[in-house]
Amino acid sequence: MIDRCGRNIDYLRISLTDRCNLRCIYCMPEEGIRQIPRTELLDTDEIVRICKVASELGISRIKLTGGEPLVRRICTPLVKELKAIPGICQVTLTTNGILLGEQLPGLMEAGLDAVNISLDTLEETTFRKITRRDDFHQVLKGLRAALSYPSLKVKLNCVPTFQSDEELLQVAALARENPLHVRFIEMMPIGLGKEFTARGEEQIKAVLEKEYGLMTPTEEKLGNGPCHYYEVPGFKGKIGFISAMTHKFCNQCNRVRMTAEGYLKACLQYQTGISLKELMRSGCTDQELTE
Ligand code: SAM
Ligand code: SF4
Repeated sequence: MIDRCGRNIDYLRISLTDRCNLRCIYCMPEEGIRQIPRTELLDTDEIVRICKVASELGISRIKLTGGEPLVRRICTPLVKELKAIPGICQVTLTTNGILLGEQLPGLMEAGLDAVNISLDTLEETTFRKITRRDDFHQVLKGLRAALSYPSLKVKLNCVPTFQSDEELLQVAALARENPLHVRFIEMMPIGLGKEFTARGEEQIKAVLEKEYGLMTPTEEKLGNGPCHYYEVPGFKGKIGFISAMTHKFCNQCNRVRMTAEGYLKACLQYQTGISLKELMRSGCTDQELTE
């Protein structure tokens, strides 16, 4: 799928649910969100059907996300089915890590290729302020579990908000001590994120370089997305930045997204798209779905 801008769309991000067991202040209101009735969510068969069609169109990598994908029980069996689709070479997960420790053995058996764990701070009190929950140690457990599988690629996502420079240094140091990449994601002004000021890449890079030395950009391709990475002296992993605001990357975009209700969107910033659920539930053929 080469689009009008010459971009090769080979990556599909699927949200399994809007629900979450955390309430990050930049993402979820304190009271949570409206519950989508289970029957309105795509089920495993529907997701697999879409992915089969998508793989024939050129999608080769799939990311499961949310909300929190691991609160949906279908996650592990789904990974297994997606991995069995010819043409799908990678299935990965983005999670807050809370349920990762208990589900990882099954996910690994199902063939999970990589996991991104979101953790904004290593200070328990700040974690509570950001997520409005007390699950800090559970997330650490999930992170340790992920690192115990040498074949699993692990990345850590951190959205800088009001963490101190010291906290950001601590998060970055996880890539010094462990074979994982730490990525700083610039706050995007979408949803509740609008209420926060993004701490830009240059500012954070300066903080890190002051402590850890000169960071050297690397051309090595380390993932499917818009993250660019730096090598840091003495670090096992790399430090990455996803800077939607200060370093626009629309020209490199390679993805389409699907909501938990089966609404296919070409871009995060627009509401326009098409309901694949309605199509499928009104009895469309695979040819119609492909179109
Ligand atoms: N619940 C999972 C998690 O937190 O990893 C998966 C979904 S979450 C929406 C995916 C990533 O988006 C997380 O790393 C989160 O920190 C980030 N995120 C959420 N709201 C954001 C915003 N307004 N700007 C930038 N990143 C955001
Ligand atoms: Fe949940 Fe992830 Fe949003 Fe935090 S960022 S509230 S963990 S969906």
